[in-house]
Amino acid sequence: MTTDAHNKTSLQIATRITESILAKQLAPGTRLGEQQLADLFGVSRTLIREALMRLAARGIVQVSARRGWFVIEPTAAEAREAFEARRVIELGLLRHARPLTKAALAKLHDHIAQEQSAIAGDDVGARSYLLGDFHVCLCECLGNSLLSDTLRDLTARTTLTAMLRQSSSQAVDSCEDHVHIVAALERGDIDEAERLMLDHLGIVESTLYDLAPSDPLGALRTALSPVSAAKARRPATATADKTIATPAKTKRATRPVAAGGLSRPASLSHAVSHSTGKELKK
Ligand SMILES: [Zn+2]
Repeated sequence: MTTDAHNKTSLQIATRITESILAKQLAPGTRLGEQQLADLFGVSRTLIREALMRLAARGIVQVSARRGWFVIEPTAAEAREAFEARRVIELGLLRHARPLTKAALAKLHDHIAQEQSAIAGDDVGARSYLLGDFHVCLCECLGNSLLSDTLRDLTARTTLTAMLRQSSSQAVDSCEDHVHIVAALERGDIDEAERLMLDHLGIVESTLYDLAPSDPLGALRTALSPVSAAKARRPATATADKTIATPAKTKRATRPVAAGGLSRPASLSHAVSHSTGKELKK
């Protein structure tokens, strides 16, 4: 087998696994035995391991000594921490940003074009990956490769949730936010870029979180919350499910942001995000 054919096969296996996860045929937490997969696909375990490593880089599977490979199960707490860390890093980077070079701007515009074409297509895995990878790309363009590795890891932690939860229209909004952030940077308006980024991270975090099944007491907590408070919070048409505590639908309204910028938006008491890994560009 040539190297090219070999790569293609591991990519195809990775794609098949991703599709099964998206189709809910493989649930978060499902164990993925190397030997079983090798038998199923009729390929070597080495090839299966390569496919799984591709998926690990995209934040879709994980490996542990005890469990072997499994589909990741992101918890809300982990996602919240990932978002807090992202806010510190990304806003800090923007605050200290030097003007972007022409080459960096071209790279960002090119990345956004890739996001738009993924959104127009039907590859949700690629879309989720690219929307998360924008942040890694921006970090690289701002000239910090050390932090971009950290950011890649942080965004990868929420790829799976984005894949499973982010709607097409939310993906479009997200990409549009990226366009505005880059435009602000292009104008040299760092304050505006920082404000837009803070808003953007908050929106992504809240849209993904309110669908994450991570609070075992959530339904009971909601049912037992003080009635007057629950009424005040709830829009007239909302049902009594886990989405109620998310005034984030006010999202596109401009949210006043303190100059310091790192405080959590009020609507974001919870978490989970959008995506990553470097694989698709290969
Ligand atoms: Zn984004």
